[in-house]
Amino acid sequence: MLQKNQFSGICKALTTALCKYIIKDMKEIDFSELARPNINALKPYETKEIPCKVKLDANESPYCIDIIPDKKILKRLNRYPDPDSKELKKTISKALKIKKNNILLGNGSDELIYYLITTFGGPVLYPVPTFSMYGIIAQALGEKNIGIPLDKDFDIDEERMLAAIKKYRPKLIFFSSPNNPTGNGFSADKILRIIDSSFVIRHPSLVIVDEAYQPFSSKKGFLPLLRDYKNLAILRTLSKIGFAALRVGFLIADKDLINEVNKVRLPFNLNALSQSMALEAFKNKNIIEAQIKNIASERERLFYELSRINNVWPYPSEANFILFRTKNANEVYKGLIKQDVLVRNMGSAAKDSLRVTIGTPKENELFLKALIKAVGGKNEKG
Ligand code: PMP
Repeated sequence: MLQKNQFSGICKALTTALCKYIIKDMKEIDFSELARPNINALKPYETKEIPCKVKLDANESPYCIDIIPDKKILKRLNRYPDPDSKELKKTISKALKIKKNNILLGNGSDELIYYLITTFGGPVLYPVPTFSMYGIIAQALGEKNIGIPLDKDFDIDEERMLAAIKKYRPKLIFFSSPNNPTGNGFSADKILRIIDSSFVIRHPSLVIVDEAYQPFSSKKGFLPLLRDYKNLAILRTLSKIGFAALRVGFLIADKDLINEVNKVRLPFNLNALSQSMALEAFKNKNIIEAQIKNIASERERLFYELSRINNVWPYPSEANFILFRTKNANEVYKGLIKQDVLVRNMGSAAKDSLRVTIGTPKENELFLKALIKAVGGKNEKG
């Protein structure tokens, strides 16, 4: 017969051995094998945090508006936020002159892209190069994603796009206009013809015009056309105009489309602080508009200065960034980091190209100086 203390000793030893066995086994789990095959093949969205004094890599606004959340919210943090962001929707509806039931709010417009693809599925079609999340999310959800190369002017290749629509019958077509990373706005006529030809009864494609950079563009945008095209939807965001940290994006579309996407929205997707701060942001409309004007005029100055630098070829932009081609882009990118300036290396998306976000005039000067040094020469073209 075992003594009581002998028994508990054996139990302890067995438990330890079992734990060790489980832990050893856990170490050997290959989580990528465990993940669905489409996730296995996926590369995460790149958000490299390289600390640099001059940060011009993420298309954020260089200006920070000092706003504070409503104190009442801070005293109610024990409660869930308003699930429908009613106040914020009311404010957006007034600002954009659209009805509240045409709006769906997201934790950034990224989340809304996720919801759109979750709701309608694929195939998902878009021109390339463009914002990588359309493809990443489609792949994450196991949907077919098709990128059609832009033409030599970075505009939509209408013929190839129409052929792809006919062949693949995509559920969703994304156009980032102005386009990230090329900076140009696409021809509105081409988009309209695509919207028209995608409207095949029973198999319509939904065309999503992602207007993240529209505030910086001199072109009109698609909001006024929403009423005429049932298969058109628009994405907007506060991220590029001073409030990237809040994560507030909005989808604007036909109310029935909004209702459908709303079914997959996670409850309370927009937290109380973001709702409250976004309301405050809208109160600063005049300041924001002045900042946007500054950014747009700095963009024109920067474009001119870039075009005067040897071995640097900037592309015209309607956004808050400029894409430029340069010799040895990888070396130039590293050379800029060494001088405490961070831009975005576009890698394979746009060969030999870097993307610089428009900063404050001072930041832009520092960038230009560093770039001239990094390309190994003085400004000699002009
Ligand atoms: N659309 C485009 C074209 C973008 O470039 C970005 C951000 N890089 C987004 C959407 C995502 O914006 P948000 O911060 O609202 O998720």
